[in-house]
Amino acid sequence: MSEATTSAANGLAALEARLRQDLAWLELPAKSWVPQKTVDNQPVLDVAVIGGGQAGMAAAVSLLHLGINAVIYDQSPAGFEGPWATTARMETLRSPKKLTGPALGFAALTFRAWFEAQFGLDAWEALDKIPRLQWMDYLRWYRKVMALDVRNDHRMELIRPRADGLVELHIAAPSGKSVVLARRVVLATGRDGLGGALVPPLADSLPRALWAHSSDDMDYGKLAGKRVGIIGAGSSAMDSAGTALEAGAERVDILIRRTELPRINKGKGSGNPGLTSGHLNLPDEWKWRIRHYVNVQQIPPPSGSVQRVSKFSNARFIFGAPIDAIDVNGDSLRVRTPRGVFELDFLIFSTGFRVDWTVRPEFAVIAPHIRSWRARYMPPPGEEDAELSDSPDLGRAFEFQQKQPGGLPGLERIHCFCYPATITHGTLSGDIPAISDGAQRLAQGIASLLYGEDVETHYRNLQDYAEPELVGDEWTPSEPTTEEREGLKR
Ligand SMILES: Cc1cc2nc3c(=O)[nH]c(=O)nc-3n(C[C@H](O)[C@H](O)[C@H](O)COP(=O)(O)OP(=O)(O)OC[C@H]3O[C@@H](n4cnc5c(N)ncnc54)[C@H](O)[C@@H]3O)c2cc1C
Repeated sequence: MSEATTSAANGLAALEARLRQDLAWLELPAKSWVPQKTVDNQPVLDVAVIGGGQAGMAAAVSLLHLGINAVIYDQSPAGFEGPWATTARMETLRSPKKLTGPALGFAALTFRAWFEAQFGLDAWEALDKIPRLQWMDYLRWYRKVMALDVRNDHRMELIRPRADGLVELHIAAPSGKSVVLARRVVLATGRDGLGGALVPPLADSLPRALWAHSSDDMDYGKLAGKRVGIIGAGSSAMDSAGTALEAGAERVDILIRRTELPRINKGKGSGNPGLTSGHLNLPDEWKWRIRHYVNVQQIPPPSGSVQRVSKFSNARFIFGAPIDAIDVNGDSLRVRTPRGVFELDFLIFSTGFRVDWTVRPEFAVIAPHIRSWRARYMPPPGEEDAELSDSPDLGRAFEFQQKQPGGLPGLERIHCFCYPATITHGTLSGDIPAISDGAQRLAQGIASLLYGEDVETHYRNLQDYAEPELVGDEWTPSEPTTEEREGLKR
């Protein structure tokens, strides 16, 4: 082992010891207090979390710290949860390195602590942004040091609330299929957590071999020597373009509807603890106005991502080029825009994500009953926004609400802790900046609901509680004096 490797390992061991000490000083995790249930000889989980990315892990730690047991199920192999080491193609995180992410207020659990413990303060100061794969390494460490119970390669195939106050999860794993029962379920299913890729309808008629969405798992090596078109101009568009160019694409044309790239990240500028705490309590008009404004302004790709593309002379940024039509011409595509017709061999739609229940069979039972913002709020003319209208209208603990009261009893036992919660709660349910705040709000909400449901049991426990503080030999009863007793007669 090299000297640097040994010192990194020692640094990390010391950090882990400190973290254990911090948790011990804070008496965390709290003792389990949720009454244990067994149904049909099967133990019932307090909470099942679907998704073991940063949101699912932060949620599970927050629950465990409140004394609520939480088991995570994730369909991915261990260490490959979320986009970071799978479908993401940026070189570094887009967000600044100083964000404390899922650390939940524990300094020793931050990325910075993990990084400095291994590479030192100078390396931290020299670091510009966090390398993408290093973020995944940090998340793997996070899972290990917080000793989370994550069941990988476990896909949740169906979720069904039951009339008896439980939620049934149908899980497929390498060992076979099983049904898990939980009192509450958290869906920490990611950026596309209630749907999938948003692709314009004109892609429907194209041969699937000639196009991809930027979030598809794809070997970009197959683009070597090809003329590639990218639709869109956000961060993922730049990442796809850069990756295609580095893979040896003959040419990459980025076809951009706008006449220029947005330059200001409005979301970043507006972030502050007031917004994090206060969005939930804003009137609907303000929630909508703020989220719609951020959507319309759009988030610019990071400067480094654009430069990664523009350093290639065979990359072109074509502005004012919305797609009018696409014709298939043998093995290639003719993409018609107001700026010209482009002959391309492969198209990548970098057009974002949407709520789309039809592509998530696991939600087939619950989807028809979920109330969305479409039913809650009618925006003023000019402020229509499909993303916001399609988002679920959630309660204060991120729980789904019924479209028709009583339509699917138990639906509110399912908590939506993924991106579509944003219009209700603000950006607390996925992105790095406020994920800890979201996880703590979620866990406290669930703790309160579980306590309320079991109040009779807790009251009985209160009555039955018999651990004496005093055994009776700590004092001797005294007699009042004669004068004091005489006072009663006066
Ligand atoms: C390409 C890309 C780059 C990003 N870069 C940044 C950035 O730099 N900074 C930032 O703040 N945010 C960024 N984000 C946004 C956000 O931080 C990420 O999407 C992040 O992964 C969200 O974490 P998560 O835990 O909510 O979801 P994920 O990390 O996506 O985890 C969700 C997990 O749920 C699992 N899952 C889903 N459905 C099921 C099911 N039915 N059964 C079992 N498991 C299931 C998935 O396999 C996945 O592992 C980026 C997003 C993308 C897509």
